[in-house]
Amino acid sequence: MINIVLFGPPGSGKGTQAQNLIHKFNLKQISTGDLFRYNIKNETELGKLAKSYIDKGELVPDQVTIDMLTEEVKKPTEAAGFIFDGFPRTAAQTEALEKIVKEVLNDEISICLSLVVDDEILVKRLLKRGETSGRSDDADENIIRNRIKEYYAKTAEVADLYKKQGKYVEVDGVGDINDISEKLYTEVEKVK
Ligand code: AMP
Repeated sequence: MINIVLFGPPGSGKGTQAQNLIHKFNLKQISTGDLFRYNIKNETELGKLAKSYIDKGELVPDQVTIDMLTEEVKKPTEAAGFIFDGFPRTAAQTEALEKIVKEVLNDEISICLSLVVDDEILVKRLLKRGETSGRSDDADENIIRNRIKEYYAKTAEVADLYKKQGKYVEVDGVGDINDISEKLYTEVEKVK
């Protein structure tokens, strides 16, 4: 199996690149942000709880997020591996993911691909996305800046953990979408 952690601040193009990686390598995508939005739309208890954090640009508590992710990993799939998009975002989540992948899939994380994009470009991209996405957390520049700040504050430790394992690879996330995809494919091929 190939199990990819796709890493990058909000607006770095994770969603777009995840789609390309899925098709290229036949992967199942698990996006914790999408799962939360699905729950919010369906007004579940989990959705109500998540919304109170998401609307402020804060992270949803670890245990809630880990439990939700575990349920997804356990679902049967024909895919050749997983792409984790937006998870893990904390050290506790990183450790939990390692355990889940080992216990449920009898496997390990192959690589952590990190998309690197300058903050000001992120803010511009997210405000533009907010014009059409309908996402409350894309509409306000202060919330956007808080999400980016929160990302760097909490996820530095995630990057460190993957660096220690020699699995952390940075890719420039600015430029032509297909060129960026090609760079990501090359990195995945190396660990396949
Ligand atoms: P995203 O679509 O990945 O940008 O996520 C949108 C929002 O969902 C984030 O700003 C967080 O509030 C919440 N969220 C998504 N993934 C996680 C996670 N792994 N841990 C905690 N909160 C998350």
